[in-house]
Amino acid sequence: MTKTKVAIVGGGFTGLSAALDLCRAGCDVTIFEQDSDIGGLAGTFELSPGTRVEKFYHHWFTNDVDILNLIDELGLGHMKRYVASNTGLYYTNSIFRLASPFDLLKFYPIPLIDRIRTGFMALLARRVNDWKPLETISAQDWLIKYGGKKAFEVIWRPLMLGKFGVEAANVSAVWIWNKLKLRGSSRNSKGGESLVYFGGGFGALTDGIRAALQREGVTIKTSTGVKQIVVENGRAVGVDTTAGRFAADVVFATVPLPHFVEMTPALPADYARKCGQIRFLGNSCLVLRLNRSLSSTYWLNVADPSFPFVGIIEHTNLDPKENYNGEHIVYLSKYLPTTEPLFSLNNDDYYAYCEPFIKRIFPEFDRSWVNSYHVWKAHFSQPVITERYSQLIPDTKTPIESLWLGTMAQIYPEDRGTNYAVRYGRRIARDIIQALAETPSAKDAAA
Ligand SMILES: Cc1cc2nc3c(=O)[nH]c(=O)nc-3n(C[C@H](O)[C@H](O)[C@H](O)COP(=O)(O)OP(=O)(O)OC[C@H]3O[C@@H](n4cnc5c(N)ncnc54)[C@H](O)[C@@H]3O)c2cc1C
Repeated sequence: MTKTKVAIVGGGFTGLSAALDLCRAGCDVTIFEQDSDIGGLAGTFELSPGTRVEKFYHHWFTNDVDILNLIDELGLGHMKRYVASNTGLYYTNSIFRLASPFDLLKFYPIPLIDRIRTGFMALLARRVNDWKPLETISAQDWLIKYGGKKAFEVIWRPLMLGKFGVEAANVSAVWIWNKLKLRGSSRNSKGGESLVYFGGGFGALTDGIRAALQREGVTIKTSTGVKQIVVENGRAVGVDTTAGRFAADVVFATVPLPHFVEMTPALPADYARKCGQIRFLGNSCLVLRLNRSLSSTYWLNVADPSFPFVGIIEHTNLDPKENYNGEHIVYLSKYLPTTEPLFSLNNDDYYAYCEPFIKRIFPEFDRSWVNSYHVWKAHFSQPVITERYSQLIPDTKTPIESLWLGTMAQIYPEDRGTNYAVRYGRRIARDIIQALAETPSAKDAAA
C-alpha cells in the first residue's frame, strides 16, 4: 500500500514537530531545509568542536508545556534544567534589579503609586483570559491605563520602541498582555522568575529530535531549498527544490510568509494579499565570547531606544560557562526594519558601533575582554502584532488543495516561540491527518 507523501518545507521547530506526528500517522514524510542544519531560528553554531550555542538567545518559561511535554515524550526529560533567572533594567546610567515584586517596589525612578499599579497590572494580566476585548486597544493605552503614565514613560515606552521601533505605537494590547501573563506566570515557589533550558542547549535538543525523526522514518534533506511549490489543477503536487523536483500528495510550508508567497505563484490573489498584510521586523544579534563576565544579570532590558540593542542577555548566567569552555556568552539583541542601515553593517562595523554603548552600561568593559564575536541576522524575526490582528491571519488550510501553511505569524494570541511552533506544528499535523481521513482517495493512500 502506498503511503501519503508529505513534503514539509522548513526544518524549524514547526516542521520538525509536525513531521513526527505525520510520520507516526503513517505518512511518508520528507523535510526540506535550505540551511546546512535543522533548527531554524532556534538553530545553533559551533564555538569549538563539540560546543554549540544558539545563534539567537533561547530559553523557555515553565508554562511552555507543549515543548516541555515533547521533550518528555522523546525520553529527554532528564535534560531539562530549571534555573532561577535574574532580570534587570538599565535606565539613565544605572542598573536596577527587577526580578521580583519586591525589586519593583524599590524601583525609585517612578512614584510609589505607579510601582504598586505596575505590580497590580502584572497580576491583572495573569487573570485575564478573554483577549478579544484587548484587540481594539493599543499596548500603549493599556499600559498607561493600568500602570500609569510615569511607568509608561520610564519603563514601557523605551522597551516598546526598542522592540518595535517605528511600529511601537501600532502594537496591540494583546501582545503586551500575553507577554506579562506568560512571563509573569513562569515563577518558582519563592515567587522569583524560573526559566527552563536544555542540557547541552538547543543543539542537543535538535539532535534528539533528529534521532527520533530518523527512527520514525522521516527523511531530512538539508542544504535543499524549495524554489517553488508545484500546483496543478488547484492542488499541490510537489516541490521544486535546488536538488530537483519532488512529488508529494501534501505540502506543508513552515517558512516566513513573504517566502511562502514568493514560492507559490499559484496562490489565489486574495490569500496572497492577506499573507502580505502582516509586517515583520528583523533581528540582529551580536554574540560576544568574553573572558570576563559583564554582570550577574541574565536578562538586562535597556530602557533607552537610542542604544543599538534592547536587551543584553548573558547566557552563561542561565547555563554555566563551564559548558562553553569557560567563556562568557553574551547576546546583544536589536529588533529593526531590515531596511535600516544598521542591519546591513558588516560584522566588524557592527561590533565597533555597539562597543561604546556597552561601555556606557559597563564602564570597565574593555576590548581585551572579547575573545571573539559573531553577528547573526534574521529577516523575519518578529511579526508586528497590530490591533485586530486576528483578522489578518491567513488560514492554515490554504485555498490550494493539499497545501498547508504554519508560520510564526499565525501564532495568536500568543507570540512566536518554539513552544508555539511545536503546538501549532502538531495541531496542523492533526488537521492534515483528519483531512486525509475524510478524503476517500487520500485515505486509501494513507492507509
Ligand atoms: C532573537 C530571537 C530570540 C528568540 N528567543 C526565543 C526564546 O527565548 N524562546 C523560544 O522558545 N523562542 C524564541 N524565539 C522564537 C523561536 O526561535 C521561533 O518562534 C521558532 O524557532 C520558529 O520556528 P518555525 O519552525 O516556525 O520557524 P523557523 O525557525 O523560521 O523555521 C523555518 C525554516 O524554514 C527554512 N526555510 C526558509 N526558506 C526555505 C526554503 N525556500 N526552502 C527550504 N527551507 C526554507 C529556514 O531556513 C528555517 O529553518 C526567538 C526568536 C528570535 C529571532
